[in-house]
Amino acid sequence: MRKTYSIAIHGGAGTIRRVDLPSEKEREYRKYLQLALETGQKILQSGGTALTACTEAVVILEDCPLFNAGRGSVFTHEGEHEMDAALMEGEHLKAGAISLVKGVRNPIRLAKSVLLHSHHVFLAGKGAEVFAREHELAFEAPSYFADAFRKTQWQEALKTDQIQLDHSASWPDNKFGTVGAVACDQKGNLAAATSTGGMTNKRYGRIGDSPLIGAGTYANNKTCAVSATGHGEYFIRGVVAYDIACLMEYQGLSVAEASNRVIHQKQPQLGGEGGVIAVDGAGNVGSSPILNQIIG
Ligand code: ASP
Repeated sequence: MRKTYSIAIHGGAGTIRRVDLPSEKEREYRKYLQLALETGQKILQSGGTALTACTEAVVILEDCPLFNAGRGSVFTHEGEHEMDAALMEGEHLKAGAISLVKGVRNPIRLAKSVLLHSHHVFLAGKGAEVFAREHELAFEAPSYFADAFRKTQWQEALKTDQIQLDHSASWPDNKFGTVGAVACDQKGNLAAATSTGGMTNKRYGRIGDSPLIGAGTYANNKTCAVSATGHGEYFIRGVVAYDIACLMEYQGLSVAEASNRVIHQKQPQLGGEGGVIAVDGAGNVGSSPILNQIIG
């Protein structure tokens, strides 16, 4: 067995201006990101799988109200929380994805149950919630997800009828957003996980890129594992995560080259903003440099 492993996590794309981020708040963000990273690291260090490491790292961020996933999910137009998540492993290309789910405490755990126990890959809405109950996943009351800051975001968005990406610079108080993890374990197996509340004021059963295999989440041991964040509509249209894997497989690009090509050359032509984290089978990590920047 190899003795090396890698893990990368993200808490959404975007730029937070130093003036908008008081230092105690920055410390809190860093604390949870660090905890998520260490949780994944420990699992990988003790010989655990990339799948488990990614899941458990994402659970930490879902439980933290600062991020737009699980507990801190943004509000929909109707004032609810509809969560999306996906998990994929690169050895057998097994995947589990869920969308439009309400009340499930940890959407990424539900995605993992789908991956492990369902004949299907992608469950949505009420059916996914039934599946969650059958698999004894924890549920929470709507008040658990109702963060005061998210409520203000939603009320502002309702006034202008905007569907708002979480990290848009126009918010008075920016917060990090969607969460994700990619990992390569000691056996060289890859996994990717992404979890989100989507976009503030979304409606009509809107689904973003995060739970779509190949768009916001993808893993294949032959190439890489990818978790994306950004304006989902553009990431769906660009099939971003799979495109990065394809550039590696068919054109021989490195994980860093492929990530940069897609995020900095191809996506801007479509018009979408966002970023990715990615890892290859040798444990090399690539990321678009706009993830979670804090500008001094
Ligand atoms: N990609 C997510 C979505 O469109 C949002 C985000 O990454 O902040 O649902």
